[in-house]
Amino acid sequence: MKNLFSHKTRNTADGAIDIFTFGDPTVSKNSYLITGGKHGGEVEGVNISWRIVEMLKEKAGEYHDTFFVVMPELCPAQSKQAMDDILSGRVKGSIKSFRNKYRNNSAGMDLNRNYAICGEEATLLADQTRIIMDFHERYDFDMMLDFHSHMRVPFTHYVCGNPYSVAVAKRLSNINGNGWRTYLHNSKEKLIGYARRYFGVWAEVGFITVELGACPRRRDFRKHCDTIWDEQFPALDWLFRQNLSDFS
Ligand SMILES: [Zn+2]
Repeated sequence: MKNLFSHKTRNTADGAIDIFTFGDPTVSKNSYLITGGKHGGEVEGVNISWRIVEMLKEKAGEYHDTFFVVMPELCPAQSKQAMDDILSGRVKGSIKSFRNKYRNNSAGMDLNRNYAICGEEATLLADQTRIIMDFHERYDFDMMLDFHSHMRVPFTHYVCGNPYSVAVAKRLSNINGNGWRTYLHNSKEKLIGYARRYFGVWAEVGFITVELGACPRRRDFRKHCDTIWDEQFPALDWLFRQNLSDFS
């Protein structure tokens, strides 16, 4: 199978973001949107998303019938600042407070809480939210994988929405050895504006939030990202070879 590839950029208030597509959406059975850095400070999620881009440049043709859109770094300004702080040893306070420092975009919006409430018109959408909505309108993704890392916990899948996302998350956890949990569909107040509620419940897209462990010490950062990749790649490789309709 041909490895169709495109790379575009779109401007946002937080810098230009890269958007990669792999495969042919007109013949693919499954389509994925993969995002990193909705919370700019969660740089392990950005790192793994870039590694997925590099991996797909080499291997996308092996994942037959699958179409990928990858937006690896949704808040470039915040992620670059956070990386700079980590690598130059300017991190102070707890892991969580450091990640939270770069959590919101430059307009103070949390991109993971920026969605309309079940079909109502949302008024204050960030550029990145509009871009994601545009792409979903165009491709009607079967599954969204959204990478985060705001706590030291090794790994958790937050799952919401349609049956196959739960089944898939269980299998991913079996392969990578990390925990998983689901969110209740009806806890409306808690989940207003959440991406996973908007897509996972309202739009019925398979939605999996992947929480990678945040690196505790800067000197270990690169090794930490290598370990994450070694742990997660077999699970992703398995996932991208599946036909999602087998799980419904
Ligand atoms: Zn996050």
